[in-house]
Amino acid sequence: MTGQNMQVVIVGGSLSGLIHAIVFQSLGHDVHVLERSPAESLHSQAAGLSAGPDVQKFINEYIKPKQLYAKTAGAVEVIDVEGGVINPIPSKDPYHFTTWSLLYNLFKSHFLAGDVAKAKYKTQKWVQEVKTDGDKLVVIYADTASDAQHELRADLVIAADGAHSAVRESVIPGISPQYTGFVTWRGAVPAAAVSEASRKALEGRMLMFRTDNGYTVSYNVPSDSGNLAPDDSQFIWVWYHKIDQNSQEFIDTFTDSSGKKHSTTVPRGKVDPEVWAKRQSSGAALSVPFAELIKKTTDPFVSAIRESSAPQTVAYDGKLLLVGDAFSLFRPHTGSSTNQTARQALELAEVFRGQKTLDEWQASSLGYARMTGAISKAFGEYCFTGQIPQSLAAAIKPEQQAK
Ligand SMILES: Cc1cc2nc3c(=O)[nH]c(=O)nc-3n(C[C@H](O)[C@H](O)[C@H](O)COP(=O)(O)OP(=O)(O)OC[C@H]3O[C@@H](n4cnc5c(N)ncnc54)[C@H](O)[C@@H]3O)c2cc1C
Repeated sequence: MTGQNMQVVIVGGSLSGLIHAIVFQSLGHDVHVLERSPAESLHSQAAGLSAGPDVQKFINEYIKPKQLYAKTAGAVEVIDVEGGVINPIPSKDPYHFTTWSLLYNLFKSHFLAGDVAKAKYKTQKWVQEVKTDGDKLVVIYADTASDAQHELRADLVIAADGAHSAVRESVIPGISPQYTGFVTWRGAVPAAAVSEASRKALEGRMLMFRTDNGYTVSYNVPSDSGNLAPDDSQFIWVWYHKIDQNSQEFIDTFTDSSGKKHSTTVPRGKVDPEVWAKRQSSGAALSVPFAELIKKTTDPFVSAIRESSAPQTVAYDGKLLLVGDAFSLFRPHTGSSTNQTARQALELAEVFRGQKTLDEWQASSLGYARMTGAISKAFGEYCFTGQIPQSLAAAIKPEQQAK
């Protein structure tokens, strides 16, 4: 798999699609990204994002940005209702927090700054099917603006089409992401809109507060345009909340303001104002800085959290590769999803430079997904309950354990 000047088609133009596009572009191949959504609608469900060590490595090696792209925090600090720290959970390396939109714009502009004949990013292109034709793959897609059908021939197809991947379904049917029993409400508030007292509590920190039925976290990120100055930064909050998926609360939460039902996310601007007003009123009982953030949020969005994992990442004799959420979708407690895809891309570069085999890449992807899926689940249990599950206890030093 070290062919020269391959035609690479990437299905999905979110972070996995762009990260892999940049890697294959740098290897000298022609790269064509097909993204289903219009560009503007992508940002309607974007908020803060943890940039783990492999995301940082990818950015340092491939993008080399002139400016910092993330704010850091050294620990997760669990706080009580008055904002006092109950226990800090230190991290070996600082957490890097940024935003989905900042990374998306950074990656997309880097990719499109390359040779225009070799780097294409097209929106409103909905891939329907991938099939074999001799030693090539054929990608069949619809232009959602005109309804016209098109096809592209490829030497390599990267399926980066997310958790509900149609490409994965066509080669490994039946992997449907399962509801984990909780939802996340999310929002962002500009630092300039927050009181001095709350800013002091929130700036440069990652806070966690437990509720009866879930927990909240907050962290400080740059503006979407990449400004890190405290006044221009924003505070991201996430409220994890358990809901039975057969309950009326679940049905109401995922029915938007126009009456349309959503299975995974009700995006910004579509949340039913009555549902949000109820959540905001429960928010008044949270620890002070969280109560203020939730009160001041005007455009929240809510997602039903699901998880899934495919048993393989390689299909069609190595011509089709599954990456990112299309391969394995984690619970979000450890913020590892983007790290997974950056790690896969960095290792794929080694495969296509002839330093590693595709079998080794697949084994490494599967091992990472197994381990990270288990850690995310166990850390989530700790976040919800304050009790350290057996599976996590072994990995935590006694002095870091919760009081
Ligand atoms: C718009 C958006 C905003 C997000 N914001 C955040 C955030 O703020 N914080 C966070 O932690 N995570 C966020 N995520 C999730 C995060 O991007 C992923 O968990 C992680 O980066 C792995 O990304 P992915 O590219 O594998 O999957 P995804 O980010 O889910 O991307 C999959 C992409 O494939 C496209 N697609 C799906 N089916 C097809 C098809 N048949 N043909 C063509 N294209 C298709 C989708 O439109 C989507 O753009 C967001 C995802 C999206 C899509």
